[in-house]
Amino acid sequence: MFSRLGIESCSVKVSSDLDKVDGLVLPGGESTTISLLLDSNNMNKTLIDFGKSYPVMGTCAGLIMMAKTVSDARIKPLGLLDIVVDRNAYGRQIQSSKEMVRYNFNEQTKIDLSTTLIRAPKIIKVSKKINVLGKFDGTPVAVLSGHHLGLTFHPELDEINIFHQILFDSQSEVFYKKKVENSIPNMSLERLDVE
Ligand code: GLN
Repeated sequence: MFSRLGIESCSVKVSSDLDKVDGLVLPGGESTTISLLLDSNNMNKTLIDFGKSYPVMGTCAGLIMMAKTVSDARIKPLGLLDIVVDRNAYGRQIQSSKEMVRYNFNEQTKIDLSTTLIRAPKIIKVSKKINVLGKFDGTPVAVLSGHHLGLTFHPELDEINIFHQILFDSQSEVFYKKKVENSIPNMSLERLDVE
């Protein structure tokens, strides 16, 4: 994904790797395992501190890790996004699906994109500071809060670049720093404050 955008990337496995990067993607996978690994490598606090200054994007299990509250006591979420998440909320692997979703990136940019949900989580609450960029079946699938972006799906499986551009591509028109504050329209999601 990054090489297509001409952005250099490397894997981050231990806290000191974060010194080499200006942004981070927490990928899909298994959030219980990711949480255990972060814990055993003492990375939770480092990631939270990193997220204060740098863009962080979470896809699927990565989004679960970015949430404030998760419906599974085994997960120690980082709290980068003020949302409540329900893991595996669509059901088992067999209930995974590809859907067409309309995303509102800003007034000019509304795009329908193929959205691959794999044993995906559901975002069941968002706070007022969260911008919902797209919803499927009434549930947010892409949320943005400042320089933190969470996706319940896998953009890489459909070769979708725009989310990476929002967070990491300063040349792109949708780069988050180019946006006037609050220029992303809210979608009609009922906003519930996260306790
Ligand atoms: N079901 C996984 C979890 O809860 C997420 C799946 C994914 O990342 N595609 O961690």
